Amino acid sequence: MTPIRGDGYPAPPNGVDAELRVGRRSRVASVALAAVLLAVSVFAVWSSQATSGAANRAVSASALSDDYRAAASAIGAEELLKRKYRSEPGPGLRGNFDAAAAGFVAAMMNVRRDGGAADRSLVDGVLVLHAAYLDAIGRLFQATDRGDTAGATRIDNSEVDPPFWTMQTDVVDAAEARHLESLDDLGSLTRLEGVTRRLTPLVFLLGLLLAAALTTVTRGHQRLLGVERAQAVHASLHDALTGLANRTLLAERLSQALGTGTGTGAGTGTDTGLLLIDLDRFKEINDTFGHHYGDELLTQIGQRLNAAVREVDCVARLGGDEFAVLLPDVRSLDHALVVATQLRTALEPPFRVLGVDLHVEASVGVVTSGEHGRDATLLLQHADIAMYVAKAQSGGVSTYDPDADEHTPEKLSLLGDLRRALGNDELVLHFQPKVGVLCDEVVGVEALVRWQHPERGMVYPDDFIPMAEHTGLIGALSRRVLDLALAQARAWSDAGEALTVSVNLSARNLLDERMPAMVGELLAAHGVAPDLLVLEVTESALMTEPVRAQRLLQELAALGVRISIDDFGAGYTSLGQLKSLPVSELKIDKSFVMTMSEGSSDDLIVHSLIDLGHNLGLSIVAEGVENEQTLAALRRYGCDVAQGYHLSRPLAPDALASWRAGRPSTPVRAPFPVGSALAVIPTHS
Ligand code: C2E
Ligand code: CA
Ligand code: CA
Repeated sequence: MTPIRGDGYPAPPNGVDAELRVGRRSRVASVALAAVLLAVSVFAVWSSQATSGAANRAVSASALSDDYRAAASAIGAEELLKRKYRSEPGPGLRGNFDAAAAGFVAAMMNVRRDGGAADRSLVDGVLVLHAAYLDAIGRLFQATDRGDTAGATRIDNSEVDPPFWTMQTDVVDAAEARHLESLDDLGSLTRLEGVTRRLTPLVFLLGLLLAAALTTVTRGHQRLLGVERAQAVHASLHDALTGLANRTLLAERLSQALGTGTGTGAGTGTDTGLLLIDLDRFKEINDTFGHHYGDELLTQIGQRLNAAVREVDCVARLGGDEFAVLLPDVRSLDHALVVATQLRTALEPPFRVLGVDLHVEASVGVVTSGEHGRDATLLLQHADIAMYVAKAQSGGVSTYDPDADEHTPEKLSLLGDLRRALGNDELVLHFQPKVGVLCDEVVGVEALVRWQHPERGMVYPDDFIPMAEHTGLIGALSRRVLDLALAQARAWSDAGEALTVSVNLSARNLLDERMPAMVGELLAAHGVAPDLLVLEVTESALMTEPVRAQRLLQELAALGVRISIDDFGAGYTSLGQLKSLPVSELKIDKSFVMTMSEGSSDDLIVHSLIDLGHNLGLSIVAEGVENEQTLAALRRYGCDVAQGYHLSRPLAPDALASWRAGRPSTPVRAPFPVGSALAVIPTHS
């Protein structure tokens, strides 16, 4: 029996084998069919020709034999009448003799007509003799009429009898020979009929066999068509890579579960649950190791997900690194959440892909029909949003909460607009000042992108950068930001107030080998000194693919551009790794800095991070400085630079100029404060 899988559809039959088998049989049957058809036709033609030939021969031999017999009896009659005439002559007998002679000639002419060449020459010879015979008969009858018995006897013996005997012998022999021939032909006709009689059932049997073979082949073709149809249906409903259900099948199964008794939440006491699973950082794995690894990893993930759920549940791959699990009947949202957690746990052990251990984490969005409605489209959408929320909360499991995340649906629809925005000058930069902690001077600015959406107004990066990273738009977005930032840097330089501009890069940018060339080109295009540009990269971006990221950072640093580690402390960059990177600056993650003044352990952490960074010869920036207390603590700990709302929010260039003008002193300064160990880029390799 065909095995039925969790998605309810039979596994695809092994089509290739079936196809080969049916193909072979079909070829054999075709050859057999041709051979048998040929044999039947040859047999039919041969038997009809042989029969009709034999019959014709028998008929003409028999006719010829009849002609000869007629001739023999006519010449016999002539002889008889001649004898009678000699004993009792008279005109009556004479007339009878002439009729017999005419009958003989007519019979011989028939022989001539019906016979072959030998017969014709025999007829010609006999007729010549017959003419001489008639001549002699004429004289014999005259002698008899005269009463000249001696003369008559002499003519009879010397001129009549010899041709008569010759003619009679010839004709009788020929009649006998032709008679035998006709018997012979009849015999062979009978034999032929016997053969045909015996062969006919054989041919009939062959025909039957052939019909059976044809039926088998036709059935085989029908089966093959069935197999192909099943394969086509299977392919249209399944993901080619993993063999899991695809989006179409998932939607179908979801509608089914919602429409039928199961999972309506009413009566049966169960819900339909839907889990949307998105892998974190899968794209990096794909980019780093290549599609081969990515594909194998996705396949293994599919297998693990399948193994972690029940037979009735349906695991689907929706595309890319997105999976979904349909729970056709789940007791409650809590149970669905438990399944979600189990799935995440199932993905925890590393995947061994071509000898490499790969780790993945997943964000899971969870919805159930009982909690979130019974409309399939809406459920899918809500699961999508829940998954985004889970992702935004850096992994984990999240359920759809319409109140907690009112902007998320907008985020989703924004995605479509982002591509257009990139070409439409809708992205603008705000600049947040970085202020020297000791000198209280502006040492640089961080460029932070905003999207001036034509309908929604100002959209902040947290609402579209993750999407851009997900969809591959991040390359174009970073280029645009760099372009805008360098144009602004050039404007400030031209105005005599050069400012270091920090630009944020995403993890994906660090895997893009074209990045250094692009940065170099933009610096040249805007005529900006490389040391006026700082590129901020996060720890996590460096951890994804350290070797590749390190090489790319070396290339960027070689341009004279400075590298800053953003959100430092939140990740787990190893110190050894930090030492080997061409890094100039550490930015302590604002999550530590913002809570420093609240008497938490963060104060100690920030202090330690400042010391650590200084020991590595790096300039330390504290971001998220929201009050004077924090700034004072940073001053005590020797932090180099502060950035935060306490100093200034990110500002448009005009607002920034006003802000700077309002400060007690705004001298133009070297970007990195004197005293920080960091005017020089470390050159570890
Ligand atoms: P980030 O690089 O850590 O940028 C600092 C974020 O913290 C900014 O948010 C900034 O407005 C905010 N911030 C600054 N001071 C304070 C403070 O005192 N308190 C609090 N609570 N927040 C403060 P923003 O502009 O919304 O940017 C958010 C994130 O978006 C950035 O985090 C960065 O990761 C990303 N981002 C922004 N612009 C770009 C960009 O051009 N390219 C890329 N790839 N990412 C960007
Ligand atoms: Ca930053
Ligand atoms: Ca940061």
